Formats: sequence, structure tokens, C-alpha cells
Amino acid sequence: MVISMRPHATREEIDHVCERIREFGYRVHSIEGDTRVVIGVVGVGDVTACLESLEATPGVESAVRISAPYKFVSREFRRQRTCVKLGSVEVGGDEFVMMAGPCSVESEKQIMETAESVAASGARVLRGGAFKPRTSPYDFQGMEEAGLKLLRKAKEATGLAIITEVMSDRDVDLIAEYADCMQVGARNMQNFALLKSLGSCGRPVLLKRGMSSTIKELLMSAEYIVAHGNPNVILCERGIRTFETATRNTCDISAIPVLNELTHLPVILDPSHATGKRSLIPAVSRAGVAIGADGLIVEVHPCPEKAVSDGAQSLTLGGFQDMMRELKPYVRLWAESRSAEPVAV
Ligand code: PEP
Ligand code: MN
Repeated sequence: MVISMRPHATREEIDHVCERIREFGYRVHSIEGDTRVVIGVVGVGDVTACLESLEATPGVESAVRISAPYKFVSREFRRQRTCVKLGSVEVGGDEFVMMAGPCSVESEKQIMETAESVAASGARVLRGGAFKPRTSPYDFQGMEEAGLKLLRKAKEATGLAIITEVMSDRDVDLIAEYADCMQVGARNMQNFALLKSLGSCGRPVLLKRGMSSTIKELLMSAEYIVAHGNPNVILCERGIRTFETATRNTCDISAIPVLNELTHLPVILDPSHATGKRSLIPAVSRAGVAIGADGLIVEVHPCPEKAVSDGAQSLTLGGFQDMMRELKPYVRLWAESRSAEPVAV
């Protein structure tokens, strides 16, 4: 169950509701916003009796039964889509949002050239890893804070919002100083210490699906971030591991409509990691637009053959520009269907 208190409910009313919930044998998990308190009710007990009692309790606006193990991120909890703001860009709203940039920040020249070019092609967010999760400890590990500084410079020059990966709870404060959005990579989707600390980082989070994780596990990880105080979470399908070897991962395209049914959080697609192959990115991107993603995150590099990571799945600057042009009619249809959606109350 989730109990939404009325805006500006008094402390006594909130405490009384929590007390009633405990009397029914449940545990209480509350999120305190600026104007409103939302209480998650956890445990086993007589749901109907508890709901009926709470609906009649002063200060309660609504009491909703939630059957899924995740509460705050579920559609049952919130019918209308959540819109997440990255600077001035809204993900989950009326705009299909393109995020683009290199896998890793490598040099000033590389990131500035990429930023200028993807911005001119219509991207709204610049991606680039400064802290890189690499399978081999001998591979390039990222420029760290020097890379973050370059991202800031690119943001100042272009107005693009910045998304960059955070791998450890120790780095959250540092990265939050520079990033408009904190990316949690596939390998860290279940790094629970990291997820908890992102609850209070003050920045939106892009949570990528683990390569062997179910949709339910992805939603449970999102629930960690929201339950720890941060409602601004975007989900990302980036391909999962299967027996198929023709692509780097298998793009689970149906995860997008499945997530749109189960959660109110925005969902984007990463066609680069999902396929591992530059030639497949435009087709998979079209599929992402058509199937109802809220945006794409695409790897782009000025010279992919010289990229220190993920060159094979990076578009060239010209390739990204071409893809953006080709996607236009699809994005127009996307916007029409989005604006025709009934507004949930
Ligand atoms: C990345 O975005 O460069 C990355 C490492 O992605 P993932 O975590 O999806 O593998
Ligand atoms: Mn990459």
C-alpha cells in the first residue's frame, strides 16, 4: 500500500497514520517531500481493513493497494508519466530526447568537437564517461575529474546537459558537482550502496539495466533510489546477455512497452551497447522511437577507429547527423501520438 498525505498535513496527522499502520502489523517507509509526505506500507496483513481505516483517517489524501514488490516506481502508485528534468531538458515529456557523445571522455579536442557537432545535429544531452567500468584492469579507466572538467567546458560552450557515469558511492558528491544526470551503468545496477547514496545526491539518475537482470530487478533497483529520497529516475534498456553472438548484447526491445505498463518512470534505449555495431544503430533507434521510448542514448565519436573504448559501436559525427535527419518523420509521429495521449488524473 502507498498512503499519500494531503499537502501540508500536520506532523500529528502523519504520526497518527504511521501509528495506525503499525497497529495493523505493517512497517512504515515514508518519503518526506517539501509539501507532501508519502508513506509506503511494507509487510503482511489485512490490506482491505487497513486501507479502509486509513482512508477515513484525518490528513490522508489517498490510500492505494500495490501488488508489485516495488511501490513508488509502479504505475499503480502514479498513473501519469513522471517527467525528469536534466537542466532545461525534460525526459518523459513532450520531447523525444537525444543524448549523444563518446563512450569515454578522452581529450579536450575530442569532447568539444563531439559536443558542438551533436548539438548542431539536435542532441540535447552530452554523454561521456570520466569514470569507466572496464572488464580488464589494464584498459583505460577514464580521465576522472579532469574528464568531468572537460564535460563542464563542453556544456558551457554548447548548452548541452551532461550525463556521466558514477561507479562508486565514494564518487557521488564529486560527480554531482559536474553532472546534470548521474548514470548508473549495467555493471552497477545492483550496487545497493551506490543506489542508496544516489537517493540524496540532488541530481536525476539514469539507471541502466544490468546485462543479466530481469525487468523486475531493474524496477527494484529504481525503487532503492526513489525510496531513499530521489524520485528523478530514468530507466535505460541497453541489451541483455543471451546465447546470440551476432550482436554484443540482445536488444530487449519489448522491455520498453513492458516498462511503460509497469512504471511511470521515463524509459530510454541505448542502441549502441544493445547491438555493439555501428551499422545496426539507425534501425534499432527507429525501433526505439516507434515502440515508445522517451529518448535514446547513442555513442558518437569524431574518429571511432581511434576511440579508446567502444569505437565499433560509435557513430561518426556525420553518421549521427544522418541518423537524426532520418529519424525526423518517426519523431514527428512519436510527438503526435504523445500529445494525443489521454491525460491521466
Ligand atoms: C557506457 O554507457 O559506456 C557503458 C559502460 O554502458 P553499460 O553500463 O550499459 O555497459
Ligand atoms: Mn560505452
